Amino acid sequence: MRRVLRGIFGRALDLVYPGICHLCGEGVPGGRCLCRACGDELPRLRAPHCRICGQGFDGRIEAEFACPNCRDQSFAFEFARPALFRSDGAMTLVHDLKYGRRLELARELADLTVSAFSDPRLAEAHEQGWPLVPVPLHRRRHHWRQFNQSREIARPLGRRLGMPVLDLLRRIRPTETQTRLSRSQRQKNLRGAFAVRRGTVGGAGAVLVDDVFTTGSTAHECARVLRKAGFQKVIVVTVMRG
Ligand SMILES: [Zn+2]
Ligand SMILES: [Zn+2]
Repeated sequence: MRRVLRGIFGRALDLVYPGICHLCGEGVPGGRCLCRACGDELPRLRAPHCRICGQGFDGRIEAEFACPNCRDQSFAFEFARPALFRSDGAMTLVHDLKYGRRLELARELADLTVSAFSDPRLAEAHEQGWPLVPVPLHRRRHHWRQFNQSREIARPLGRRLGMPVLDLLRRIRPTETQTRLSRSQRQKNLRGAFAVRRGTVGGAGAVLVDDVFTTGSTAHECARVLRKAGFQKVIVVTVMRG
């Protein structure tokens, strides 16, 4: 009976979504939009990489290291763990979710992000069921985009991992787009942009979820606010290193 239902459900999904790989156009079954081959091709984060931001390093290096960007930084989070290195394929998926409103891509991105939790540094968070906290959008941008990509990724990620997803953060001030700002300008731009929701109770830790890790300014500011609300540790998990 269950198989019959799954078959009917799968075919219904095939009607809703064309069942085509978003990257290569090959047919894929039952509501998926990334084929196995394209998914496997996306470069997973692997050593050696910066222990703080995940930036890759060409060449051999045995010891843990921090990249030049992170070496002189004191972030409020412990470290960021992107699931993937930057690649054209990963960029396309993230970009089309966000700007092309292809919400069905969020599940594929969440499935890819599960691999970040193979990092032993995330074992504690996973075992203790720390909350996954999406980086929020300001309501004005949320209204315009109609969804928050970080939350759309966090929800199926939480289901896959058996971890709660809690919207603990609010963006209380709209901020200029960050892309053209230097790091110090970004930090100033974000100061006071986030707050925790009323009634938030801290704990051993929280995992901040975002689509891309770039300079770490947003993650730092969110982590700072969560730490202030009583979370002892904040770890950042993203789909991709920007
Ligand atoms: Zn494909
Ligand atoms: Zn780094």
